[in-house]
Amino acid sequence: AAPVVAVVGRPNVGKSTLFNRIVGERMAIVEDKPGVTRDRLYARAEWLNYDFRVIDTGGLEMGNAPFLTEIRGQVEVAIDEADVIVMVVSGREGLTADDQAVANLLYGADKPVVLAVNKVDNPEMRSDIYDFYSLGLGDPYPVSGSHGIGLGDVLDQVVKNF
Ligand code: GDP
Ligand code: MG
Repeated sequence: AAPVVAVVGRPNVGKSTLFNRIVGERMAIVEDKPGVTRDRLYARAEWLNYDFRVIDTGGLEMGNAPFLTEIRGQVEVAIDEADVIVMVVSGREGLTADDQAVANLLYGADKPVVLAVNKVDNPEMRSDIYDFYSLGLGDPYPVSGSHGIGLGDVLDQVVKNF
């Protein structure tokens, strides 16, 4: 089966924007799961010669659960189903307690994590990534989902872990 990549992170960091970039406009929905009714949570993508599936865990409905319950559920899905996890944070907002909470949930998992610092829209903002080393999830990669910058470097790291 094709490897699975899960996109995780606190709300509003740009998970769905990056997901759409990775998946591209022409990619169709390939999977539908009970309880997952919103479209484009699961899609097929490719990078270099790799075919894989991507999950936007932020779109998984967890009811009106409080943040920690919701993110726990999303990260659980990522850990269960993914071969590689992309954790997204925001270079604009900087490191937050919620980012740390997401990272804490990932530490126990035996899954490779690629750390994408989104909203780094121009080269002057690249220094915003350094704070994220303290998450202990390896090198932070600057990306801009809305401008389509830096995604190739993230995907290179992702496919290296297949
Ligand atoms: P999600 O909640 O993590 O899925 O985040 P979304 O993809 O819905 O994006 C949240 C907000 O951040 C939206 O207003 C996006 O337009 C904005 N956003 C996403 N990516 C970028 C980016 O690379 N740069 C900037 N400046 N804004 C972004
Ligand atoms: Mg989203």
